[in-house]
Amino acid sequence: MVLTQEKKEFDVNFPIIIIGAGACGLCAALSAKEHGVNPLILERDREPSGSSALSTCLIPAAGTKLQKKAGIDDTPEVFANDIINKARNKNDPNMVRFISNESAPTIDWLIDNNVPLKLVTSFFYPGHSQYRMHGSPNRTGTELMEALLKKTQEKKIDLITSALVTNIFVNSTKTITGVEITRPNGAIENIGCKSLILACNGFGGNSEMVKKYIPEMSNALYFGHTGNRGDAIKWGNEIGASISDIGSYQGHGAVTHPHGTLLFWGLMTQGGFQVNVNGERFSNEVRGYSEQAVDVISQKNSYVWEIWDSNSHEIGMDFADYRNGANLGAHKIANDIIEISSLTKMPLNKLEKTFSNINHYRSNKIKDNFGRDWSNIKPMTKPYFFAKVTGALFHTQGGLDVNSSAQVIDKNGKAFPNLYAGGGAARGLSGPSRWGYLSGNGLLTAVVLGKIAGQTAAEKIDKNDSEIR
Ligand SMILES: Cc1cc2nc3c(=O)[nH]c(=O)nc-3n(C[C@H](O)[C@H](O)[C@H](O)COP(=O)(O)OP(=O)(O)OC[C@H]3O[C@@H](n4cnc5c(N)ncnc54)[C@H](O)[C@@H]3O)c2cc1C
Repeated sequence: MVLTQEKKEFDVNFPIIIIGAGACGLCAALSAKEHGVNPLILERDREPSGSSALSTCLIPAAGTKLQKKAGIDDTPEVFANDIINKARNKNDPNMVRFISNESAPTIDWLIDNNVPLKLVTSFFYPGHSQYRMHGSPNRTGTELMEALLKKTQEKKIDLITSALVTNIFVNSTKTITGVEITRPNGAIENIGCKSLILACNGFGGNSEMVKKYIPEMSNALYFGHTGNRGDAIKWGNEIGASISDIGSYQGHGAVTHPHGTLLFWGLMTQGGFQVNVNGERFSNEVRGYSEQAVDVISQKNSYVWEIWDSNSHEIGMDFADYRNGANLGAHKIANDIIEISSLTKMPLNKLEKTFSNINHYRSNKIKDNFGRDWSNIKPMTKPYFFAKVTGALFHTQGGLDVNSSAQVIDKNGKAFPNLYAGGGAARGLSGPSRWGYLSGNGLLTAVVLGKIAGQTAAEKIDKNDSEIR
């Protein structure tokens, strides 16, 4: 809840409070510290992880030092156009351009802060016209979180865990004065601040809110962090913040079932495909993984089979999630179509027809009914790999509107004096839909807006009055 009180006394005061210790919150903290202010991070969990730790840690950026070194010619303008095209022009072009411009400086800054990112050039993600994904060695968000946490410890940044922020305090000028935290044993503490940064992601972990705002995913598996319960959006609503694209989200159409491991979408862009229990394709798989989630859960029994080849399997072995799925037995192997049919019970004649059609699409003899472009796809190499997959909700993309200082704005476009937001708490770059999400833009807005929020909040603090009291 938001509690309005004119002169609230707090147990202790920090210049900046950051709610949430995911990628956004940790970047905000590092950036605030770099600009001379000691922030306090409050995290509900005992160990910080968030959706950031669950992620594949692929972050797109245009014009980075790594791209230049690899001879990749990319610019923020080209990147911005890709983001705008993916969302069919329904996102905020100013914010898209701002984030694209900040993408390379932010990735370079993360690398300077010892986050182990490398440029990924083994495959393209749908909608990206250049190699611009930057990923950790095993493509896992735990590597990102470990690196950021290590840096915050080195910088002696205060982090209080098991601290669920339950209420925030404002005065009549809509200035945030502090927060209330509730400990696991029910104890309540109040902490004052001069600025507040909301880095507590969206509402994927709140089934009531998902039902209300994203009904099409209300029965889908939620694959993100369950502690993300929409608190930033609830507080924003109460103080009259502008909130946009609330029904927008990132889904994913390839979570193995029932093992629950993730298949990266490069399997598709390299020539993989999905068939329903009848052995028939049902969509253009390479539009994007987000929109595929609904297509998958709309099929009989809400699952389908994904089929890929041995070349893609080799690329997959770079991904910890993929190796995990292989080790758990989620991925099956077959030497021919007969074996796939016999193991999956998909009708052989239908499956053979699907494989044969794909060969024809590839050699341009017939056009794909779903509009997929197969022109650069090589013939599949054996053995074949396949897995039963379902669609899932990964994170919500609607949220608080912010300006280019990451300040939350009200319904008239006016910035709240000392309230900031980033990552999943802020409106994303996807527009209002399930199909607007361009791969990697979840972490991108987390790290860029986190860095900007930390910097601008710190710059506004009177350094002579930033002592912790
Ligand atoms: C399986 C999976 C794979 C993904 N892969 C990628 C990828 O490769 N690239 C990409 O760009 N995006 C990816 N994403 C999306 C990405 O993970 C998120 O967009 C990003 O992590 C959001 O960062 P954040 O800091 O805003 O939120 P989080 O990392 O979720 O951090 C929010 C933190 O706030 C805490 N919190 C919440 N409420 C409170 C409260 N009231 N009080 C105190 N603490 C609170 C939470 O416990 C959490 O630790 C993936 C998502 C999933 C689920």
